[in-house]
Amino acid sequence: PPALVWFRRDLRDHDHAALSAALRTGGAVYCAFVFDTDILDALPSRHDRRVHFIHGSLQALDAALRARGGALIVRHGRAVQHIPALAQALAVGAVHANRDYEPAAKARDQAVAHALAPLGIALHLHKDQVVFDGDAVRTRAGTPFTVFTPYKNAWRQRLLQHTSPHAPPDELPDLAAHPCAGPIASPPPRLSTGIPTLADIGFEATNLPELGITPGMPGARALWDAFAQGRIQRYADLRDYPARRGVSYLSVHLRFGTIAIRALVRHALALRADAWLDELIWRDFFFMILDHFPHVVERAFKPAYDAIEWDDWPQGLAAWQAGRTGYPLVDAAMRQLLHCGWMHNRLRMLTASFLCKDLGIDWRLGERHFAAQLNDFDLAANNGNWQWAASSGCDAQPYFRIFNPVSQSQKFDPQGDFIRRYVPELARVPLPFLHAPWTMDRSAQQAAGIVLGRDYPLPIVEHASARQRTLMRYAVVKEQG
Ligand code: FAD
Repeated sequence: PPALVWFRRDLRDHDHAALSAALRTGGAVYCAFVFDTDILDALPSRHDRRVHFIHGSLQALDAALRARGGALIVRHGRAVQHIPALAQALAVGAVHANRDYEPAAKARDQAVAHALAPLGIALHLHKDQVVFDGDAVRTRAGTPFTVFTPYKNAWRQRLLQHTSPHAPPDELPDLAAHPCAGPIASPPPRLSTGIPTLADIGFEATNLPELGITPGMPGARALWDAFAQGRIQRYADLRDYPARRGVSYLSVHLRFGTIAIRALVRHALALRADAWLDELIWRDFFFMILDHFPHVVERAFKPAYDAIEWDDWPQGLAAWQAGRTGYPLVDAAMRQLLHCGWMHNRLRMLTASFLCKDLGIDWRLGERHFAAQLNDFDLAANNGNWQWAASSGCDAQPYFRIFNPVSQSQKFDPQGDFIRRYVPELARVPLPFLHAPWTMDRSAQQAAGIVLGRDYPLPIVEHASARQRTLMRYAVVKEQG
C-alpha cells in the first residue's frame, strides 16, 4: 500500500528519517503538510516571521518534490482532522512523521494515532530532529542526565560506541544520512495540491526578505556554506561578540528542519569544530530535558525555585521588551530581537539574566516574550535556557551568578559597535561613557547631543542594589533546601 509522509518541522526532502522509511516500504509515497490552526490560532500576531518562513520553506520543498514527480499536499485546519482524512482518501497503509518532543505535539500525535487506528492505518514516528533521544544517553544509574557536561561526555561516548575513536564521522551509525532517493507520487487529481498564500491562511508578509533571511533548503545551504568555508574555524574566538559575524545563524533552519542535524554534526566532527559541536549537543540536551521533564513548561526544573516571589512590575517588563532600560547593551539586544526576530546568544543570556536578576521579574514572562518574537523559537531550547538564566534549571552553577550589565557590555561589545547599531540615539556618545551613559555630566551630554531621561532613559534599576535584592529573593531557595 502507499504511504503518507506528514511534514512538520522537517521541511526538506533529503536525509529525512520519515521520508526515508516511507520510501523503503516500496509503495507510492505521498507528502503532506498542515498549517495547523491549533498552533496558528494561538500565535500572538498575524504578522509572524515564523509563518512567513514556513510558507517560503514549503515552496522550496514543493518545488523539490515536483522535480521528483510528486507534489506537496497542503491543508489549512486542524491536523488531527486533516491527516486522518488524507490518509483515508489516499488509502495509505501508514503515516510516517518525525518525532516531536513538545508536550502539545506529543498529545496531537497521540490524537492522530487514535483517529487513524480504527481505519487500520498506523502512525510511525521516527527519530530525526536530534542525534539521540529517549534513553539513548543515560547516567550509569540509568536515569536521565540533568547537568550538561556529563551529558555531553556520555553523548560523545555513545556516538563512538562500537566504532574506533578514529572512525570517520560518516561511518558513525547514528550520524548516517537517511537515504531519500526515489520517486514521490503525485496525488490523484481529486485531491488539490498547491500552497495557499499567506493571506489565505490569515497571515501577512513580514520583513524576512529585507533581513536577508532566505527560507527553505536553499537558504540553509547558503548559510551553511558561508559558515563552513572559514567562520566555523574561528567560532570559538568570535562567538561571544555580537558585533562580529561569528556564529552560524542556522537556528531558524534547525528549527524548521530545512537542514539535517546529522549532517551538521558530521561536518563539525570532521572539521574538529568542538566549540560549535558543543552547541549542537546543548540542543539535544534541552530536547531530552523537555521530553523527560515536561513539568518545566509550567514550573521550575528544580522545585525549590518555585518558592521565589517575583515582582509584579508591568512598566519594568515593558521597558525591557522595548529596549528602554537605560542599559545600552541590554537595550540594543532587545531592539535587535524586535527588529530581526533573532538575538545573539551572549545577549540572550545577558537580557534574560537582567530580567530575572536585575528587574526581579518572573522568567516565564521573559520566556513568553522570546517565544513570541524569536524566529528560531523552540520550546525546548528557550525554556531550558531561560531556566538556566534564572538558575532554576539544569545548571551546576549556584544562583548567585548574576551578570553585571556594564562589565558584560565592556567585555563583549568593547568598541560599542553593536550598541551604536541598534541604539542610534547613543551614536555620538564617546566610548568611555557608552556602556554606562548615566555617568556623563551635563556638558558631556551636551557634547554628545543627548539629554538623558529625555532622549534615552536613565537606568530603571541600579545594578548593585538590584543584585542585593536578588540575593535576598533567592534566599528562600536555600530555606526550601
Ligand atoms: P550557533 O552559535 O551557530 O549554534 C549552532 C546551533 O546550536 C544553533 O543554531 C542552535 O540550534 C544550537 N544552540 C546553540 N546554543 C544553544 C543553546 N544554548 N541551547 C540550545 N541550542 C543551542 N535557541 C533556539 O534555537 N531557540 C530558542 O528559542 C532559544 N532561546 C534561547 C533563550 C535564551 C534565554 C538563551 C540564553 C538562549 C536561547 N537559545 C535558543 C540558544 C541560542 O541563543 C541560539 O540557538 C543561538 O543564538 C542561535 O544562533 P546561531 O544559529 O547562530 O547559533
